[in-house]
Amino acid sequence: MMTEYKEPGPVLDHENPFESMMQRFDIAAEVLGLEDGVYQYLKTPVKQVTVSIPIQMDNGTVEIFEGHRVVHNDILGPSKGGIRYAPDVNIDEVKALAAWMTWKCALLNVPFGGAKGGVKCDPTKLTAVELEKITRRYTANMMEVFGDDKDIPAPDMNTNEQTMAWIMDTYSMHQRKTVSGVVTGKPLLIGGSLGRREATGRGVMIVTLGAMEKLGMKAKETSVVVQGFGNVGSISAQLLREQGCKIVGISDITGGYYNKRGIDIQKALDYVKQNKTLNGFTGGDAVSQTELLEMECDVLVPAAKEDQITHKNAGKIKAKIIAEGANGPTTAKADPILNERGIIVVPDILANAGGVTVSYFEWVQNRVGYYWSLDRVNRRLERMMKASFDNVYETAAKHKVSLRIGAYIVAIDKVARTLKIRGIYA
Ligand code: NAD
Repeated sequence: MMTEYKEPGPVLDHENPFESMMQRFDIAAEVLGLEDGVYQYLKTPVKQVTVSIPIQMDNGTVEIFEGHRVVHNDILGPSKGGIRYAPDVNIDEVKALAAWMTWKCALLNVPFGGAKGGVKCDPTKLTAVELEKITRRYTANMMEVFGDDKDIPAPDMNTNEQTMAWIMDTYSMHQRKTVSGVVTGKPLLIGGSLGRREATGRGVMIVTLGAMEKLGMKAKETSVVVQGFGNVGSISAQLLREQGCKIVGISDITGGYYNKRGIDIQKALDYVKQNKTLNGFTGGDAVSQTELLEMECDVLVPAAKEDQITHKNAGKIKAKIIAEGANGPTTAKADPILNERGIIVVPDILANAGGVTVSYFEWVQNRVGYYWSLDRVNRRLERMMKASFDNVYETAAKHKVSLRIGAYIVAIDKVARTLKIRGIYA
């Protein structure tokens, strides 16, 4: 095994987040000295299922939708991953997202493999009745794939608690019994977990404090900019504020707001509750999306979408720590620039893994039939996030690589070692 590895600047010129992920996978695989057979095994999904979903629309016509489910790997346990509804869903994207889930679960020591699903449709043009029909028929067509000990979906883009309730109900009807653990991210009333909604933001807060501790930064003297004010961004901001940090910048799709004296996060939350977006918020000076990322701050939390930190702005970012709440907010081309500048990036597969961790807790509670207090959920989440952070930090230091490559090394190594022990069935 190599003791020192210099991360090469990526040769590819595109900024596709999934390609970006695979570039990082390759670097980690090289550091680990993965043998070719194992490398090929880890790159190839174990199962890909495509189904057609015929639906009678509200106007009486019949439309056929296409649905996919990809199980990337199930060697660590039943596979886990969200289902997204979007017009541009395609099997390649679903395959890449499924692999991402394998690394996330392995990294967090959650006993799940990785999967992802998607239905190609435009939810903005569908009624609630049509969405329910699509969800139920997709589930019925995936009866052989899903299962509480086989493959467990969760919400993703344009799917929510209600979608999960329909999946759980349809699956249970076919099984002739209630199977709560077949999906996570359910409403509390039918077996959801306390703390699930806040879990991703809470995880971001925990790893941010972990990185601050390594740099000797005190919460009371730390300023934070958060991009995106949805589930992940607003909760990260709120919890970091509760820890004593000063939130100096926030933004959403309508624009950014900066106030070096600190933004009142409760006011911003109340404003969004009333007005749906931050548009017109007066708790800070209006700045552009681009400016916000480059403003003076100690910690930057990109929690909106992919490809926000690129080779174009990586040189201008002032933060000492970037905690990736979003999936793929930093392109592979930006990585070496941030590394050279000594900026610590807590990578997405670690920083936003609080969601899948509490999904695991939800599944455990469903299977045992005993429900935990919020305090228990939060304590266990903190313990697992801290353990993973420390593991990644030590691995990165040992191999002299970034936390991102350290995280991929931990994850890939765990799956590869498990494969070795289980062996290949033939
Ligand atoms: P969300 O829809 O609740 O919020 C997204 C926020 O980002 C909104 O405030 C939106 O206005 C804002 N936004 C969109 N484009 C923007 C732009 N260009 N500039 C600034 N703000 C912009 O979504 P979410 O659940 O908070 O997810 C955010 C990111 O976190 C996504 O990348 C998602 O994949 C990732 N993630 C979410 C979870 C989870 O549990 N929700 C878990 C893991 C990863």
